[in-house]
Amino acid sequence: MAVRDILICGDPVLKRKAAPADPTDPELKTIVKDMFDTMYENRGVGLAAPQIGLSISLFVINHDWNRDEGKEKDGVEEVFINPKLLKAYGKDEGYEEGCLSVPEIHEKVQRKDTIDIEYTDLKGKKHTETGVTGLRARVFQHEYDHLHGILFIDRLSPVKKMFVKKELKRIIEEME
Ligand SMILES: [Zn+2]
Repeated sequence: MAVRDILICGDPVLKRKAAPADPTDPELKTIVKDMFDTMYENRGVGLAAPQIGLSISLFVINHDWNRDEGKEKDGVEEVFINPKLLKAYGKDEGYEEGCLSVPEIHEKVQRKDTIDIEYTDLKGKKHTETGVTGLRARVFQHEYDHLHGILFIDRLSPVKKMFVKKELKRIIEEME
């Protein structure tokens, strides 16, 4: 088990657009394993490679593991390599999000509730899925944003964003 350090908001890697990942790279298996370890250790439901300092197009999700009881292997582990958000549609939905790179902040973010997606898994198999909904669609969109240098706080209204940034500055200063 290798838990890696998570980059915190303000690090330039989190602002960068991630480069395509090579699904045949044998190193990817270790990275993915470490990403799950890191995600579970920090009680997350998703983690994108840039959050551990790797600017490549890859994220992992386990959106329904039982975080309260710490049963770390339940739920479904999913790996998304070079994912594409083909379409976001349906109704706008507000849902309270947090992020392992944005300590202590939780805010309601508006996103579409249905998505069509494309990605490659760790075995190199390509998938296309339509009509993805629920928490899985929510977490996918949050992690997908990470690959484009976008944090959930960037999606808040300008006033809310200003407030959150001030709060965040204080939190990060206290952590140092
Ligand atoms: Zn995040």
